[in-house]
Amino acid sequence: MIQFNKPHITGKEFRYIEEAINNQWISGNGPFTKRCHQFFEERYGFPKCLLTSSCTDALEMAALLLDLGPGDEVIFPSFTFVSTVNAFMLRGIKAVFADSLPHHPNIDPQAIRERITPQTKALVIVHYGGAACAMEEILEIVQEHNLLLIEDAAHAIDAYYKNKPLGSFGHLATFSFHETKNIICGEGGMLVINDARFEERAEILWEKGTNRTAFYRGEVDKYGWVDLGSSFLPSDLTAAFLMAQLECLSDIQATRKNIVGQYIKGLDELIKNNLFQVVTPEDYATQNGHLFAIVLANEPERSALINHLKQSEIFPAFHYQSLHKSPYFTKLHDGRALPHSDRFSEGLLRLPMYYDLKEEEIQEICCGIKGFYEGRQK
Ligand SMILES: *Cc1c(COP(=O)(O)O)cnc(C)c1O
Repeated sequence: MIQFNKPHITGKEFRYIEEAINNQWISGNGPFTKRCHQFFEERYGFPKCLLTSSCTDALEMAALLLDLGPGDEVIFPSFTFVSTVNAFMLRGIKAVFADSLPHHPNIDPQAIRERITPQTKALVIVHYGGAACAMEEILEIVQEHNLLLIEDAAHAIDAYYKNKPLGSFGHLATFSFHETKNIICGEGGMLVINDARFEERAEILWEKGTNRTAFYRGEVDKYGWVDLGSSFLPSDLTAAFLMAQLECLSDIQATRKNIVGQYIKGLDELIKNNLFQVVTPEDYATQNGHLFAIVLANEPERSALINHLKQSEIFPAFHYQSLHKSPYFTKLHDGRALPHSDRFSEGLLRLPMYYDLKEEEIQEICCGIKGFYEGRQK
């Protein structure tokens, strides 16, 4: 059986968790949390990072930091995970959806322009599959309309736009370390604060509305309730697990990118014959090996391929369903059609992708797909 995802364990997780236990600091903001922050700040030049219990939590922190509320509009892609939008709607904002690019699930800058009104305060973008959005055009729109920019970089660890790391473009950015992402710790995430004006309040929100973080640094002699907040920080046990993974980042990334290469090679003939489209980053974006996705002509064809592969015990996975058509949002949507987002909802298929996926297994998957198309030609 070839399942869609398998969490990869690097081997150092137990040792680091044991170390955290021996440190006698297993609550949040302990030694391993600091090491994780430092890793990102040094490797990618992020000015300030805060680990969170999930990317969803990091997005909720972002929404709180921006001080958005009823009357404010925020633009999102429709082809994304629920949390991208839900985190902001919790604050009472009006969500406005912009369509994907015709050839890639990333948000279309032209579609963003069309959705801007005097009430538009922020733009949330998602670097789908770790492939950078069209940042030059997006930054132009952000400057022109004085918007706040948030990058949902849940897929986008160690990914770049023209040599600049994703997560460094927005005023704020969020990452995920959920079991399904490249670097994992079960449930976990991170908020990146690129705009210094949000730094102090971010630490307070993170620590239940208190200035405990400043207290730990010795900047105040006691800590207390100074603002609203919540408990967004993960245990140091989680951070210990994450640190073990981060130390293997280069190897994990290289292996996953190699898998993408093997898929492209294995499906070469079918791709040349235009039997489906492969979701590939634009020239300005790097491949970070988060996923390998193909786009089929329509939903019946996708279902037929899924069923065909299932017979060989291969389990691919489709992805997001357009949020503007979701049971929760459909009544709130303005009725505008988002055909590209819908096309990816109906036709996109992710093939199994995980560190321990073997070359023979990739060949087996590619053979299964070839067999499907050969069967259809008869
Ligand atoms: C996984 C994911 C999230 C949520 O991440 P969690 O860490 O599970 O909360 C948010 N946005 C996108 C685009 C994701 O893929």
